[in-house]
This record gives sequence, C-alpha cells and structure tokens, in this order.
Amino acid sequence: MQTGTMRNELLNEISEKIGLRFSGKGDAIGGSYEGYNITINCFSNIVYINVPIRITNEYYVNEINGFLRHISNKYNYVTLAQYICSGIKIQCSQEIRQEEQENIIIVILNEVVNFAKERDLVTCCEECGQSNYVVPYIKDGFLVPWCVKCQLKEKEKEKEVTSVNQNVNKSQGPNLITGIIGAIIGAFLGAVIWIIISQIGYISSIGGLAIAIGTIKGYEIMGHGMDKNGLIISIGIIIVTVYLAQYGSIAFEIYKQNRVNEVSLFDSIKLVHLALLMGNTSTLFYRNLVLGYLFTLVPSAYYIKNRY
Ligand SMILES: [Zn+2]
Repeated sequence: MQTGTMRNELLNEISEKIGLRFSGKGDAIGGSYEGYNITINCFSNIVYINVPIRITNEYYVNEINGFLRHISNKYNYVTLAQYICSGIKIQCSQEIRQEEQENIIIVILNEVVNFAKERDLVTCCEECGQSNYVVPYIKDGFLVPWCVKCQLKEKEKEKEVTSVNQNVNKSQGPNLITGIIGAIIGAFLGAVIWIIISQIGYISSIGGLAIAIGTIKGYEIMGHGMDKNGLIISIGIIIVTVYLAQYGSIAFEIYKQNRVNEVSLFDSIKLVHLALLMGNTSTLFYRNLVLGYLFTLVPSAYYIKNRY
C-alpha cells in the first residue's frame, strides 16, 4: 500500500471505475455513487467503506443488520459490517490480490446500493442523519460523508477548543526571566538607534520611540507574551534606558570633538557629568531627556490602550 501524498492504488482503481474523488493525502475517496453518498478510507491495509442511509422506521434497522450479516458471511475478507451513526460501515482487510479487490469492493457497494434502492431508503449525512447536501469532509484524518451544516458546526467546535487552549496558555503567563532579557536586548537596540540619530544631528529624542517599542516587543517575543508585571518592568527599563541613551549620546559628542586630543570613549563617558555643569549642555541634555520620555509615552500608551 502506498501512503503519504501518493494515491492509494486500490482506491485509484475504484475511483476510476465508479467516479469517486480523492481527498486529503490520497488514502481516501468520496462522492456520490448511484445517488448514495459514499466515502472509502484506506489505512494500514484496512479498507473502510461508509455509506450513510437514512432510517425513518426501526423496522429497517433489523433488516439492515440482517443484510450486513449476509455480507459478512458472503465475503470472508469483510472483517466488520455494521449499521451505526446513520451509516453502513464495512471494513475489509487488504490481504487479497489487488486486481481482484477493487472489483469485490465495487460488488459490495452495488449490493449495499441495491439493498437500499429496493426499500426506497435514501442517502443522508452520516453525522445528523438528515437528507442535507453532503460534501466529503476530513475529520481527524478520516474522510466522512457529512453535510455542510455539520461541517460548519464541527469547525465552530474546533475553534472553541483552540480558544480554550489559548486561554490555558494565557493563564500560564509569560516567562518573566526571558521576558526581561528580551526587554533589555530591545532597549539596547533602541538606545543604539537613539545615539545614531543624535550623531546624524536630528532630535535624538525621537529614539525614545525605538526604545519603548524595542523594550516592549523584546519582552513580548522572548517572554512569550506580556502581563502586568512585564509591563511594569518594561516601563522601568525604558525610563533607565532613555536616560542612559541620552547620557551616551553626550559622551559620544565629547568623544567626537576630542578625538584629536586622544580622549577615549571611556574617558568621554566619565566627562559627561562635568559637561553637564555647563549651562547650554545641561539645558540640551534635560530638554532632550524630557522630549525622549514624551516620545516613549506615545507607543507605551498606544500599547496599553490596545491591550487593556
Ligand atoms: Zn449533517
């Protein structure tokens, strides 16, 4: 038996002869045959035939069970034949020679269809048993003859399950340690942008935007989410980083102007507090700092508004 994306050979033969269509990975076919909805799945050398039949009278249940006993006795490779959940379910083992098997399966299908036709039993949806329009549908890897309504219901259910799972994940909360590491990395990148902007000569405080976004995103990405603690820690990191970035950009300025005097970047950092004693540098420093905090407010407030 071929699996994976390769079409199952046996199903391929059946599909060519009675016009059922392939679905999924090539190990299932489905569609309408002689006016009856049919799906055939093939897994681990077992062929699963599913023909939903609508029963309105209990009398027919006994008759169908009798008919299925007859099928089991007549074809010795039929391992199971039963009527459950509005469907005739027949399982065959795939032990016999392949060229015979597709014909035998078609013979069995014809028997089922003729049995139903003779009693005016009509096809239906396997799930709800109603005579709705059926489109083969993959449920848990299995092709089933379900109506569109039941398929939509199932998809809704799946959605609910995933949202419940997401809530479970949410209640576990983001990871504080990795979140902090992410926030520090993001803040550092933001600070680099701040210093670069100041070196180009623009208002460096725009870099506050980069620091705030970098810190919050960094926490979110590495901490796998954000919570109240994360937000408080991020804001703390943002406040410190904006100050350090502004301090750093002044140090860079001192370094640039005194490079010829062999003043190192490290010395420049130590000289910042002296520079701040000068009126105009000090004004520039604090003006930029205040502007920087204002800029960090924009993305932070936007973020908080969207989240809470
Ligand atoms: Zn249905």
